[in-house]
Amino acid sequence: MPTNPSRLTRRHLLGASAALGGVAVLGLPGCATSAAGGPSIGRVVVIGGGFGGTTAARYLKLWGGNVDVTLVERNATFISCPISNLVIGGYKQMADITRSYDGLKAMGIKVVQGDVSAIDAAGKKVRLAGGGELPYDRLVVSPGVDFMWEQVGGLQAAVDAGSVVHSWKAGPQTLTLRRQLEAMADGGVVAISIPKVPYRCPPGPYERACMVASYLKTAKPKSKVLVLDANPEVQSKKALFEKAFADHYKGILEYKPNAELKEVSGKLAKLEFEDVKADVLNVIPPQRAGDIARSAGLVNVNNRWVGVDWQTMESTVVPGIHVLGDATFPAPLMPKSGHMANQHAKVAAAAIVQLLKGQAVSATPVVVNTCYSFVTARDVIHVASVHQYDAADKTFKTVAGSGGVSAAANQIEGRYALSWAENIWDDMLSA
Ligand SMILES: Cc1cc2nc3c(=O)[nH]c(=O)nc-3n(C[C@H](O)[C@H](O)[C@H](O)COP(=O)(O)OP(=O)(O)OC[C@H]3O[C@@H](n4cnc5c(N)ncnc54)[C@H](O)[C@@H]3O)c2cc1C
Repeated sequence: MPTNPSRLTRRHLLGASAALGGVAVLGLPGCATSAAGGPSIGRVVVIGGGFGGTTAARYLKLWGGNVDVTLVERNATFISCPISNLVIGGYKQMADITRSYDGLKAMGIKVVQGDVSAIDAAGKKVRLAGGGELPYDRLVVSPGVDFMWEQVGGLQAAVDAGSVVHSWKAGPQTLTLRRQLEAMADGGVVAISIPKVPYRCPPGPYERACMVASYLKTAKPKSKVLVLDANPEVQSKKALFEKAFADHYKGILEYKPNAELKEVSGKLAKLEFEDVKADVLNVIPPQRAGDIARSAGLVNVNNRWVGVDWQTMESTVVPGIHVLGDATFPAPLMPKSGHMANQHAKVAAAAIVQLLKGQAVSATPVVVNTCYSFVTARDVIHVASVHQYDAADKTFKTVAGSGGVSAAANQIEGRYALSWAENIWDDMLSA
């Protein structure tokens, strides 16, 4: 890997793309990579233009050729959660994490901006909130998460009123949190509440705590960050985050385990045994599969997540519907990450193309994940894993000896992290 450019060279990009590509590439040996006329082999509708949905739409076109692909996304542009913590810290701008859907349109994918209000699985069509229906032969659903507001008293009202932000879906809330930090007086208290696992991006809250503390350390050094974690300990890259807290943010950042948020009132966070008064209150709410997965009857695990057949990503309850990303009930040790949603999408795209052609799907999918976290504006740590499909147990299992974490935070990985983001956004969205 190169040692200095923050955007990698073409050679490294190709290497990184192969890494992002994972098994789905291997699952389609000899497959053509572009459309070439002829009758359509099928109609696929994709719900959700985030990490999973865009990748699925793009790879259905790349690998399927003449598949009719329609992507439905409620937002006009893609805004990335990865790197959004740097916007909150003041090190990146919203424009840096925002991309258009024009590349997908240029590939011949029909991009519809709208909200899917219902899925008619028997009639094989989806309904749009603005009116109209889209028929499909196979449906891909990658709606991300929605919040379990009912788990924390007063939370939805506080977020609606603007006294509390979640900033756990990148967009206007990302900027609101940044503005609140800028407006806070020196000496203020920022409280960040982390829900019990599972939630999207296990290391994300700790990265956020570091980014907020990093900003305060230079701009408002009398201030404090209180990390109220409902879990008994840091949930990802524990030793590395704890070292970062101690090395860089001693006296500014205080980490409290077993601090589950029960209720919110204004900017008061009520825990089981104490109340915390904050000037800026960032509550990451408990999460479940996105609303459309629930209303379509796809949620069948713990009343929260969607069970899938890992060889095809097809729902275990509704045939013909493939579910990706954060909405799924994960295989053992599989994180809810953008990288993993991208990998799910490739498994699904490869399988759907094979199924539309009446051919066998890959028997040996492999997926990979790397999550980088900034602990200062430049120093980064990573966690990586490789997951191989196990036909006997019908699930992905981590490959022994693969993956691991950084030896220590370092600046080279800071450049890799930014390159990872550029590469994966290209892998999802470029023409
Ligand atoms: C602060 C933060 C930092 C993160 N950092 C990283 C990181 O460094 N690396 C990493 O790999 N992951 C990271 N993640 C996790 C990553 O963002 C998610 O895992 C990823 O977005 C999941 O992809 P998805 O396709 O499941 O959902 P999403 O990317 O959330 O996409 C879902 C899309 O579906 C749309 N949608 C939902 N319902 C409908 C509907 N009914 N009609 C139309 N559209 C609909 C939504 O608008 C959304 O665009 C981070 C997350 C956060 C919050």
